Amino acid sequence: MSDFGFITDNIRFSYSGVTTFENCPQSYKLTYIDVENKVENAFGQFGLLIHHVLEKYFAKEIDIWDLADYYKKKYDEFVTEPYPPNNYVDLGHSYYQSGLDFFTMFDFDRNNYEIISIEDSIDFDMTTDIMAIARPDLVLKDIKTGKYILFDYKTAKMKTTKKQLEKQISDYMRQMKLYCYAFWLKTKIEINEVRIWFIRDNFIYEEQVDYMDILNTTMWFIETVENIQKEKDWRPLDIEKNKFFCAFICSVRNSCKYFNNF
Ligand code: SF4
Repeated sequence: MSDFGFITDNIRFSYSGVTTFENCPQSYKLTYIDVENKVENAFGQFGLLIHHVLEKYFAKEIDIWDLADYYKKKYDEFVTEPYPPNNYVDLGHSYYQSGLDFFTMFDFDRNNYEIISIEDSIDFDMTTDIMAIARPDLVLKDIKTGKYILFDYKTAKMKTTKKQLEKQISDYMRQMKLYCYAFWLKTKIEINEVRIWFIRDNFIYEEQVDYMDILNTTMWFIETVENIQKEKDWRPLDIEKNKFFCAFICSVRNSCKYFNNF
């Protein structure tokens, strides 16, 4: 056990926390153990806005024809940080426009579905020693087919090469399989299908759920949590190779002694 075992034994682990550790153990320590103040970034704020607007739609608080206006009205309230500079594209304009296009062309009719859950947190025990939490964006039941469908909204663009796209979807599906498991534990409902909604591409990727795959995902999650519980060094990401991430995305960069001495 690490020197922080008394803390890590009492953390409720999430997919996001576990992948933060895989990406940069130092970021995990600063975020979940030291609980340092976080800095926001425009990409994360844009993602929160998209989730907020879709949550309002599926909760039947706004109608389909009001989505684009509601998005425009809320944009400056949610996205307060500047987008990073880019030599090829005005990121601020590009993100704003992609969200506006998405909600202007939106044609997903919620009336074809029974709304089962919207952004509900699920606390669950992965093992007797590992507490976990999941927060699926949306679960719907298709009224015609009776299928249960788990949706997740992603604001990253779809990767452009086949290999990169397969890796991107495989990473997202790992999160979804964990959520299927958590949802089943809580409700005893088996999710039949996962749909990953690529907002900025206006494309929905669909995959049927394989429950054997879920077993592999839970094994990965448990092994990674055990690594967190044993960790002693909390080594940082290779800053030289990941300058953009450290400078503009990492939410604990202001507290990172490695980045600040770089
Ligand atoms: S700034 Fe970079 S090295 Fe430091 S915690 Fe964040 S991701 Fe890790």
